[in-house]
Amino acid sequence: MNTIITVKDLVKNYGAFNAVKGISFDVYEGEIFGLLGPNGAGKSTTLEIIETLRQKTSGQITVCGLDLDKDSDAIKKLIGVQLQTSGYYPGLTLVELIHLFGGLYNEDVNPMELLKLVNLTDKAKSKFKELSGGQKQRFSIATTLINKPKIIFLDEPTTGLDPQARRNLWDLIKSIQAKGTTVIITTHYMDEAEQLCDRIAIMDEGKIISLDSPDKMIDDLVSGGFERPKQVKAASLEDVFIHLTGKEMRDE
Ligand code: ADP
Ligand code: MG
Repeated sequence: MNTIITVKDLVKNYGAFNAVKGISFDVYEGEIFGLLGPNGAGKSTTLEIIETLRQKTSGQITVCGLDLDKDSDAIKKLIGVQLQTSGYYPGLTLVELIHLFGGLYNEDVNPMELLKLVNLTDKAKSKFKELSGGQKQRFSIATTLINKPKIIFLDEPTTGLDPQARRNLWDLIKSIQAKGTTVIITTHYMDEAEQLCDRIAIMDEGKIISLDSPDKMIDDLVSGGFERPKQVKAASLEDVFIHLTGKEMRDE
Protein backbone atom coordinates (compact mmCIF):
# COMPACT_ATOMS: atom_id res chain seq x y z
CA MET A 1 0.00 0.00 0.00
CA ASN A 2 1.55 3.31 -1.08
CA THR A 3 0.74 6.36 1.00
CA ILE A 4 -0.29 9.33 -1.14
CA ILE A 5 -1.24 11.79 1.62
CA THR A 6 0.24 12.03 5.10
CA VAL A 7 -1.25 14.34 7.71
CA LYS A 8 0.61 14.64 10.98
CA ASP A 9 -0.49 16.56 14.08
CA LEU A 10 -2.64 18.96 12.07
CA VAL A 11 -3.97 21.88 14.10
CA LYS A 12 -6.24 24.70 12.89
CA ASN A 13 -7.31 27.57 15.08
CA TYR A 14 -9.78 30.23 13.99
CA GLY A 15 -8.80 32.97 16.39
CA ALA A 16 -9.20 31.48 19.86
CA PHE A 17 -11.34 28.61 18.54
CA ASN A 18 -9.54 25.30 18.14
CA ALA A 19 -11.32 23.73 15.12
CA VAL A 20 -8.85 20.91 14.36
CA LYS A 21 -7.01 19.52 17.35
CA GLY A 22 -3.88 17.71 16.20
CA ILE A 23 -5.12 14.99 13.83
CA SER A 24 -2.94 12.45 12.02
CA PHE A 25 -3.85 10.07 9.22
CA ASP A 26 -2.59 8.58 5.96
CA VAL A 27 -4.47 8.15 2.70
CA TYR A 28 -3.41 5.27 0.47
CA GLU A 29 -2.96 5.56 -3.26
CA GLY A 30 -6.03 4.40 -5.19
CA GLU A 31 -8.46 4.24 -2.28
CA ILE A 32 -11.69 6.08 -1.59
CA PHE A 33 -11.10 7.65 1.81
CA GLY A 34 -14.11 9.02 3.70
CA LEU A 35 -14.10 11.79 6.27
CA LEU A 36 -17.26 11.52 8.36
CA GLY A 37 -18.54 13.45 11.33
CA PRO A 38 -21.25 15.79 12.57
CA ASN A 39 -21.48 19.37 11.28
CA GLY A 40 -18.65 21.46 12.68
CA ALA A 41 -16.35 18.46 13.24
CA GLY A 42 -13.63 20.05 11.11
CA LYS A 43 -13.93 17.99 7.90
CA SER A 44 -14.06 20.84 5.39
CA THR A 45 -11.32 22.71 7.24
CA THR A 46 -9.09 19.63 7.02
CA LEU A 47 -9.81 19.10 3.31
CA GLU A 48 -9.27 22.74 2.42
CA ILE A 49 -5.91 22.77 4.20
CA ILE A 50 -4.75 19.69 2.25
CA GLU A 51 -6.08 21.33 -0.92
CA THR A 52 -3.77 24.31 -0.18
CA LEU A 53 -6.82 26.60 -0.02
CA ARG A 54 -6.57 27.31 3.70
CA GLN A 55 -3.61 27.99 6.00
CA LYS A 56 -2.96 25.52 8.78
CA THR A 57 -1.94 26.61 12.26
CA SER A 58 0.58 23.78 12.66
CA GLY A 59 1.35 20.23 11.61
CA GLN A 60 3.01 18.50 8.65
CA ILE A 61 1.29 17.50 5.43
CA THR A 62 2.75 15.59 2.51
CA VAL A 63 0.87 15.10 -0.77
CA CYS A 64 2.33 12.85 -3.47
CA GLY A 65 5.67 13.04 -1.69
CA LEU A 66 5.64 16.86 -1.69
CA ASP A 67 5.75 19.00 1.45
CA LEU A 68 2.73 21.32 1.59
CA ASP A 69 4.82 24.09 3.15
CA LYS A 70 7.40 24.06 0.35
CA ASP A 71 5.64 22.77 -2.75
CA SER A 72 2.04 23.94 -2.63
CA ASP A 73 2.15 25.07 -6.28
CA ALA A 74 3.32 21.64 -7.42
CA ILE A 75 0.65 20.00 -5.23
CA LYS A 76 -2.08 22.15 -6.84
CA LYS A 77 -1.20 20.62 -10.21
CA LEU A 78 -1.64 17.07 -8.90
CA ILE A 79 -5.01 17.45 -7.22
CA GLY A 80 -8.57 18.07 -8.36
CA VAL A 81 -10.76 20.30 -6.24
CA GLN A 82 -14.49 20.94 -6.53
CA LEU A 83 -15.00 24.66 -6.86
CA GLN A 84 -17.98 26.22 -5.13
CA THR A 85 -20.82 25.93 -7.64
CA SER A 86 -21.66 29.55 -6.88
CA GLY A 87 -18.42 30.39 -8.72
CA TYR A 88 -19.74 28.99 -12.01
CA TYR A 89 -20.91 31.63 -14.45
CA PRO A 90 -24.56 30.55 -14.69
CA GLY A 91 -25.00 31.94 -18.21
CA LEU A 92 -22.16 29.95 -19.80
CA THR A 93 -22.67 26.55 -21.41
CA LEU A 94 -20.93 23.47 -20.03
CA VAL A 95 -18.49 23.46 -22.95
CA GLU A 96 -17.68 27.15 -22.39
CA LEU A 97 -17.16 26.56 -18.66
CA ILE A 98 -14.78 23.65 -19.33
CA HIS A 99 -12.75 25.82 -21.71
CA LEU A 100 -12.67 28.54 -19.08
CA PHE A 101 -11.49 26.16 -16.32
CA GLY A 102 -9.05 24.48 -18.72
CA GLY A 103 -7.52 27.91 -19.28
CA LEU A 104 -7.19 28.48 -15.54
CA TYR A 105 -5.34 25.17 -15.22
CA ASN A 106 -3.39 25.81 -18.41
CA GLU A 107 -4.67 22.45 -19.67
CA ASP A 108 -5.76 21.60 -23.18
CA VAL A 109 -9.04 19.81 -22.50
CA ASN A 110 -11.48 18.08 -24.79
CA PRO A 111 -14.86 19.17 -23.34
CA MET A 112 -16.89 16.41 -24.99
CA GLU A 113 -14.54 13.72 -23.69
CA LEU A 114 -14.83 15.12 -20.19
CA LEU A 115 -18.63 15.44 -20.40
CA LYS A 116 -18.84 11.85 -21.62
CA LEU A 117 -17.08 10.68 -18.45
CA VAL A 118 -19.86 12.15 -16.34
CA ASN A 119 -22.68 11.29 -18.74
CA LEU A 120 -23.52 14.85 -19.71
CA THR A 121 -22.77 14.93 -23.46
CA ASP A 122 -26.37 15.77 -24.33
CA LYS A 123 -26.16 18.78 -22.01
CA ALA A 124 -23.01 20.20 -23.64
CA LYS A 125 -24.82 23.28 -24.95
CA SER A 126 -26.96 23.78 -21.85
CA LYS A 127 -26.19 26.50 -19.36
CA PHE A 128 -25.07 25.50 -15.88
CA LYS A 129 -28.17 27.09 -14.34
CA GLU A 130 -30.39 24.86 -16.48
CA LEU A 131 -29.05 21.62 -14.95
CA SER A 132 -30.79 19.58 -12.25
CA GLY A 133 -29.13 19.08 -8.86
CA GLY A 134 -27.64 15.71 -9.83
CA GLN A 135 -26.38 17.04 -13.15
CA LYS A 136 -24.79 20.04 -11.43
CA GLN A 137 -22.95 17.68 -9.09
CA ARG A 138 -21.80 15.49 -11.98
CA PHE A 139 -20.55 18.57 -13.80
CA SER A 140 -18.77 19.78 -10.70
CA ILE A 141 -17.03 16.39 -10.43
CA ALA A 142 -16.05 16.68 -14.11
CA THR A 143 -14.32 19.97 -13.35
CA THR A 144 -12.13 18.25 -10.74
CA LEU A 145 -10.80 16.00 -13.52
CA ILE A 146 -9.71 18.77 -15.91
CA ASN A 147 -6.04 18.67 -14.90
CA LYS A 148 -5.95 14.84 -14.83
CA PRO A 149 -5.27 14.80 -11.09
CA LYS A 150 -3.89 11.95 -9.00
CA ILE A 151 -6.25 12.81 -6.14
CA ILE A 152 -9.71 14.40 -6.12
CA PHE A 153 -11.46 15.97 -3.14
CA LEU A 154 -15.26 15.84 -2.91
CA ASP A 155 -16.90 17.69 -0.02
CA GLU A 156 -20.48 16.40 0.44
CA PRO A 157 -21.01 15.76 -3.29
CA THR A 158 -24.37 14.02 -2.78
CA THR A 159 -26.01 16.25 -0.17
CA GLY A 160 -29.54 17.13 -1.23
CA LEU A 161 -29.76 14.65 -4.12
CA ASP A 162 -32.58 12.13 -4.60
CA PRO A 163 -31.78 8.41 -4.16
CA GLN A 164 -31.41 7.79 -7.91
CA ALA A 165 -29.01 10.68 -8.41
CA ARG A 166 -27.04 9.59 -5.36
CA ARG A 167 -26.58 6.06 -6.72
CA ASN A 168 -25.62 7.48 -10.09
CA LEU A 169 -22.93 9.57 -8.42
CA TRP A 170 -21.62 6.51 -6.54
CA ASP A 171 -21.12 4.76 -9.88
CA LEU A 172 -19.32 7.81 -11.22
CA ILE A 173 -17.03 8.04 -8.19
CA LYS A 174 -16.25 4.31 -8.39
CA SER A 175 -15.44 4.64 -12.09
CA ILE A 176 -13.02 7.48 -11.30
CA GLN A 177 -11.36 5.29 -8.66
CA ALA A 178 -11.20 2.39 -11.14
CA LYS A 179 -9.04 4.57 -13.40
CA GLY A 180 -6.49 4.88 -10.59
CA THR A 181 -7.48 8.20 -9.03
CA THR A 182 -7.46 8.49 -5.25
CA VAL A 183 -10.69 9.98 -3.87
CA ILE A 184 -11.25 11.80 -0.59
CA ILE A 185 -14.89 12.39 0.17
CA THR A 186 -17.03 13.74 2.99
CA THR A 187 -20.62 12.64 3.45
CA HIS A 188 -23.40 12.56 6.01
CA TYR A 189 -24.87 9.41 4.49
CA MET A 190 -23.63 6.28 6.26
CA ASP A 191 -24.96 3.92 3.60
CA GLU A 192 -22.93 5.91 1.09
CA ALA A 193 -19.77 5.66 3.17
CA GLU A 194 -20.34 1.92 3.59
CA GLN A 195 -20.85 1.44 -0.17
CA LEU A 196 -18.07 3.67 -1.42
CA CYS A 197 -15.26 4.02 1.05
CA ASP A 198 -12.34 1.64 1.48
CA ARG A 199 -11.53 3.34 4.77
CA ILE A 200 -13.10 6.08 6.82
CA ALA A 201 -12.01 8.46 9.53
CA ILE A 202 -14.72 9.60 11.91
CA MET A 203 -14.12 13.11 13.21
CA ASP A 204 -15.81 14.77 16.14
CA GLU A 205 -15.03 18.19 17.61
CA GLY A 206 -11.74 18.48 15.75
CA LYS A 207 -10.42 15.00 16.57
CA ILE A 208 -10.35 11.68 14.75
CA ILE A 209 -12.13 9.25 17.02
CA SER A 210 -11.95 6.18 14.76
CA LEU A 211 -10.17 5.20 11.55
CA ASP A 212 -10.69 1.87 9.77
CA SER A 213 -12.61 0.12 7.01
CA PRO A 214 -16.40 0.39 7.40
CA ASP A 215 -16.55 -3.40 7.63
CA LYS A 216 -14.04 -3.56 10.49
CA MET A 217 -15.79 -0.77 12.39
CA ILE A 218 -19.12 -2.60 12.20
CA ASP A 219 -17.54 -5.92 13.21
CA ASP A 220 -15.83 -4.27 16.19
CA LEU A 221 -19.10 -2.74 17.35
CA VAL A 222 -20.93 -6.06 17.08
CA SER A 223 -18.17 -8.02 18.82
CA GLY A 224 -18.38 -5.49 21.66
CA GLY A 225 -21.92 -6.74 22.33
CA PHE A 226 -23.86 -4.12 20.39
CA GLU A 227 -27.31 -5.15 19.22
CA ARG A 228 -29.82 -3.17 17.23
CA PRO A 229 -32.79 -2.20 19.42
CA LYS A 230 -35.38 -3.76 17.12
CA GLN A 231 -35.28 -6.59 14.65
CA VAL A 232 -33.99 -5.39 11.33
CA LYS A 233 -36.17 -6.04 8.32
CA ALA A 234 -34.72 -7.60 5.21
CA ALA A 235 -35.25 -4.35 3.29
CA SER A 236 -35.31 -0.63 4.03
CA LEU A 237 -37.73 2.11 3.04
CA GLU A 238 -35.07 3.26 0.59
CA ASP A 239 -35.17 -0.21 -1.02
CA VAL A 240 -38.96 0.21 -1.35
CA PHE A 241 -38.50 3.63 -2.94
CA ILE A 242 -35.92 2.41 -5.46
CA HIS A 243 -38.00 -0.69 -6.20
CA LEU A 244 -41.10 1.43 -6.91
CA THR A 245 -39.50 4.30 -8.79
CA GLY A 246 -36.68 2.48 -10.56
CA LYS A 247 -32.97 3.17 -10.69
CA GLU A 248 -32.92 5.42 -13.73
CA MET A 249 -32.27 9.12 -13.31
CA ARG A 250 -35.19 11.51 -13.79
CA ASP A 251 -33.40 14.69 -14.62
CA GLU A 252 -32.06 13.71 -18.03
P1 ADP B 1 -17.40 20.43 8.97
O1 ADP B 1 -16.99 20.54 7.54
O2 ADP B 1 -17.00 19.17 9.62
O3 ADP B 1 -18.86 20.71 9.16
P2 ADP B 1 -15.83 22.85 9.30
O4 ADP B 1 -14.44 22.48 9.00
O5 ADP B 1 -16.57 23.59 8.26
O6 ADP B 1 -16.63 21.58 9.79
O7 ADP B 1 -15.84 23.75 10.60
C1 ADP B 1 -15.24 23.35 11.81
C2 ADP B 1 -15.46 24.41 12.86
O8 ADP B 1 -14.72 25.58 12.52
C3 ADP B 1 -16.91 24.86 13.00
O9 ADP B 1 -17.18 25.11 14.37
C4 ADP B 1 -16.97 26.13 12.20
O10 ADP B 1 -17.96 26.99 12.69
C5 ADP B 1 -15.58 26.70 12.40
N1 ADP B 1 -15.14 27.49 11.23
C6 ADP B 1 -15.05 27.06 9.96
N2 ADP B 1 -14.59 28.02 9.16
C7 ADP B 1 -14.38 29.11 9.93
C8 ADP B 1 -13.89 30.42 9.69
N3 ADP B 1 -13.53 30.82 8.47
N4 ADP B 1 -13.80 31.25 10.74
C9 ADP B 1 -14.14 30.86 11.99
N5 ADP B 1 -14.60 29.62 12.29
C10 ADP B 1 -14.73 28.76 11.28
MG1 MG C 1 -18.12 20.80 5.80
